[in-house]
Amino acid sequence: MDNNRKTYIIANWKMNFTPGEASLYLNKLANRYQPVRKVQAILAPGMVSLQTLSLQINRRQFKLAAQNCHWQDYGSYTGEVSPTQIRSFVDYVIIGHSERRYVFNETDKIIAQKVAAAIRNGLTPILCIGETELERRDGETKAAIYDQLAAGLSQVSAEDIDKVIIAYEPVWAISSNKGAKPASPLDIEEVQKLIRKHIARRYDAQTAENISILYGGSVNKDTAAGYLSIDGIDGLLIGNASLIADQFCAILEIAKGVKNER
Ligand code: PEP
Repeated sequence: MDNNRKTYIIANWKMNFTPGEASLYLNKLANRYQPVRKVQAILAPGMVSLQTLSLQINRRQFKLAAQNCHWQDYGSYTGEVSPTQIRSFVDYVIIGHSERRYVFNETDKIIAQKVAAAIRNGLTPILCIGETELERRDGETKAAIYDQLAAGLSQVSAEDIDKVIIAYEPVWAISSNKGAKPASPLDIEEVQKLIRKHIARRYDAQTAENISILYGGSVNKDTAAGYLSIDGIDGLLIGNASLIADQFCAILEIAKGVKNER
């Protein structure tokens, strides 16, 4: 059923690794990983490592993502980085990660502008959405998902929606959050259905079938196969476990295996 969609495995290194360390990691991974067409491996290093890695990377083996970008192309925004500045280094950009939403107070409006800015600059936005622990406890998961999707995609036209990837990351499942627990496959399957339902209403049924939906939250090499087998889940966004090259490489190999079984 999912055979036409690629599998995306994304390493979100967050604020870890100097450019030198990032380069050593890439070197190690590149020596071990044999790419296949149906699995797209993506590294999301810190901004300071993008140029170094973009010169080193074999783009047939790995692609790069930024972890964030500004919503304007240029301007007086001290300390910020625009999509225009990074677009020669990366193909993807993570937008609306829960750490951006809840630590840096990014609003839905800002996230919508960033998604539009990424597309305008030829980058694929990976739009992160997910309910908080409180929303989940109050039975508001569906509302939270719909609200974040409606807002995040509010500036995305029918012509551009095929350029967007959605990452479902329940905030309570992200390993760096206190008391984090992995989401259950049943919950994740339910939410991916909600996402496709929303996309079908807002765009059309074919778009809903085609859009790639990833899961992120406490995934490691022991749990990756299970998550990748969930109906409608097209890949993984991995934080903590991606900091170890051996572990990330193991997850890439698992993705190749699961994809072949489909
Ligand atoms: C994340 O922060 O996007 C994430 C999925 O982190 P972890 O894998 O560490 O839960």
